[in-house]
Amino acid sequence: MNDLRELYQEVIFDHNRHPRNFGKLEGATHEADGYNPLCGDRLHLYLILDNDKCVERVTFEGEGCAISTASASLLTEALQGRSEAEARALLQDVVAMATGNVVNTDALGKLSVLSGVQEFPARVKCATLAWHTLESALDQNDTAVTTE
Ligand code: ZN
Repeated sequence: MNDLRELYQEVIFDHNRHPRNFGKLEGATHEADGYNPLCGDRLHLYLILDNDKCVERVTFEGEGCAISTASASLLTEALQGRSEAEARALLQDVVAMATGNVVNTDALGKLSVLSGVQEFPARVKCATLAWHTLESALDQNDTAVTTE
């Protein structure tokens, strides 16, 4: 259990300091805004899905706490090359895991560190914001997501 906590802190720290795939994406086919009023996290997610509905590129912009930034960064890494169906399955697993439901964390790879957020219930919305925003982007829903 201590290993998970250490890994959680290490990964969150690293991805917050050096967010992957950060910035605007020209030619995005899907995008969405997310907002977590509880903490003030804001992010904008950009995706390019190719003709086979596979994620060709994914980036994000925004400002938020360490956990929301790290979670969005992890999302962009995890999504690269996935199909839309895989992306949807992944987001359901991550949200379930972060909210304390049992999922097969082995299948989630590095994302399994996000299960560490269960110890900080106030942070669950920070950790899941990017994933709810992803769902909105895939649904091509024009309404901004809020966690409230
Ligand atoms: Zn936050």
